[in-house]
Amino acid sequence: MGFLSSHSPIRFVDSHCHLDADEFQGDVNAMRERARQQGVDLCLIPSVDKNNFQVVCDLAHRFHDLYALGIHPLYTKDAVAEDLGLLREQLARALAGAHDLTWQAPLLVAVGEIGLDGAVKSLDWQRQVYFFEEQLKVAVDFDLPVVLHVRSAVDFVLKGLRKFKVKGGIAHAFNGSLQQAEQFIAMGFKLGMGGALTYPRALHLRRLAQELPAESIVLETDSPDIVPVWRYVNAELRDRGHSQGRNEPAELPRIAQEIADLRGVPLQRLMQESTNNFLNVFNLEISNSIV
Ligand SMILES: [Zn+2]
Repeated sequence: MGFLSSHSPIRFVDSHCHLDADEFQGDVNAMRERARQQGVDLCLIPSVDKNNFQVVCDLAHRFHDLYALGIHPLYTKDAVAEDLGLLREQLARALAGAHDLTWQAPLLVAVGEIGLDGAVKSLDWQRQVYFFEEQLKVAVDFDLPVVLHVRSAVDFVLKGLRKFKVKGGIAHAFNGSLQQAEQFIAMGFKLGMGGALTYPRALHLRRLAQELPAESIVLETDSPDIVPVWRYVNAELRDRGHSQGRNEPAELPRIAQEIADLRGVPLQRLMQESTNNFLNVFNLEISNSIV
């Protein structure tokens, strides 16, 4: 059990945001502060390949956020087997020391972002499966949860999880069926819900947001991607020279409000439940004592 020291309860958690993305270069500090003003007290920053392992670690320490290390399926194209050794070294180092001064726990909480992507046909599937399974082994060896990318590959990811028994984690931007959701939940997973469901036509996601059990939901923005509908720039505007806006963690409370409305519960309750779900899945507890 890791104890997070905090004088006040954690309000919103953005369980998936790539704060190291190019889109945030230049104003990352202001952007993170804006999110905090909106009540986003904690972010989980996943890495995508060895080149940003150190960057996400540094950002997490700068902002008192959390991070995950792993090789994203879309980045397996350029990954080599030796990167797995590097991942193990970095994880060992992160867990051995370098604790944040105000936290009694390492800020490294998971292996991620790892998974499978069946939507990008140009990717070598066998290569994706290799890196996914090898990283599940890493998670088992380090006794860490995982942050999963699951796109057009839900059953294949579930198959991997049945083969290598990791201790749960988050299936980010979940878009499977309720039945598939139940299989993830049975294996100790929470399901990430975000801006994609703000689109009126996202009927499946909106129904999922209503039907998923309260104890399975965590919130995410997936910044800078998956802009919520109110930030979406349509084709007509793009033709007139408007570029697609980026997404950022400060949007999380508004996305949460949409989910709360769909579920017919007060925002405050959704906030507390989803934050507790997040802390539970990473075995973290809030303590009031500062180390
Ligand atoms: Zn991601």
